Amino acid sequence: MANAQLKEDIIAYSKLIGIDKIGFASADPFVSLKSRLETQQELGYQSGFEKGTIQERTEPQLTLPEAKSIISIALAYPSKLNNAPRSKKGERRGLFCRASWGEDYHHILRRKLKMLEEFIAQKVPGEKCVSMVDTGELSDRAAAERAGIGWSGKNCAIITPEFGSYVYLGEMITTLDIPPDIPLEDQCGTCNKCVEACPTGALVQGGQLDSNKCIAFLTQTKDFLPEQYRQKLGNRLYGCDTCQVVCPVNKGKDTHHHPEMEPDHEVVKPKLIPLLKISNREFKEKFGPISGSWRGKKPIQRNAIIALAHFKEEDAVPELNDLLETDPRPVIRGTAAWAIGKIDTKESYSMLMKAKEREKDKNVQIEIEKGLEMLENNLI
Ligand code: SF4
Ligand code: SF4
Repeated sequence: MANAQLKEDIIAYSKLIGIDKIGFASADPFVSLKSRLETQQELGYQSGFEKGTIQERTEPQLTLPEAKSIISIALAYPSKLNNAPRSKKGERRGLFCRASWGEDYHHILRRKLKMLEEFIAQKVPGEKCVSMVDTGELSDRAAAERAGIGWSGKNCAIITPEFGSYVYLGEMITTLDIPPDIPLEDQCGTCNKCVEACPTGALVQGGQLDSNKCIAFLTQTKDFLPEQYRQKLGNRLYGCDTCQVVCPVNKGKDTHHHPEMEPDHEVVKPKLIPLLKISNREFKEKFGPISGSWRGKKPIQRNAIIALAHFKEEDAVPELNDLLETDPRPVIRGTAAWAIGKIDTKESYSMLMKAKEREKDKNVQIEIEKGLEMLENNLI
């Protein structure tokens, strides 16, 4: 019974420090997750950003040998940009996904977990625990599902009845033996909205994600974005929220419990043209504090170029041509060439022809050809 009391004390403390939801689970191996991950690996659905081996991700005892329980926490984040500046002709804007608004959530959750660890250490000296957020060995979602935080939706997000899927997750593996909570029942039922709304068909067999098709993953890659996904990118600079936005459980869910998660409009919905030539220092100052900058400047700039092409933003063409002429990065030069062709102003053709004479990089040459081809097709 002592541990039931301890559980109550931990729950009370978690509320005190602003944890929106907490759940407890056994630290037994995640057997079904293991076979799911193995299938994903066989099918080539993984993103390559996963940490550790499948065994490490599904066996808590490999991280903490005497582990008995997992404590899973959830913090709800805002979903609405109230009074955000409009994206208009000449001043088009891109968008960072909701999970990257405000201070990098890894820091916020780690602070909460640290406080929880200290509380537990005071109560039960000598207990061991290992905390993690996102980049840890364990799957945050599997831990949250088992601990009754939410069910695993067909959109692969953990859906809480209280806050929808707009929650950040973190967990602690501990040697404490705490009575577990009961997992929630899957409440997706016959709904299939997320699967139908996904722009790239990345949600396969409900509850499986092909990361290589997922825009959220693709926005984070550093190479050329495969052409079939460029149109689908829209104005997304980082991440994709479509399968969350369409989820009926998320309707009206917009939690503002944590001031540090409040978005700065100019950061999360920035003007696109100034991004094209932003210096490393400016980028770090402006975007460094948000999680969406973790892959650095290049993918964001590449995505900004694609977003400008999506809007057919004619004012951007001189800047794009500057990039095509002088940027040392082939991905940026090539994507700029493609965008110049796509936007199709009266200067586009001569810009691309000059680049064709000058350009030595094979991949950039291919993009110049694609740009010229678009221009020629437009003439027909
Ligand atoms: Fe599809 Fe976007 Fe969801 Fe990825 S994040 S599964 S691309 S809707
Ligand atoms: Fe489940 Fe429907 Fe939400 Fe998809 S949109 S996660 S199927 S409730």
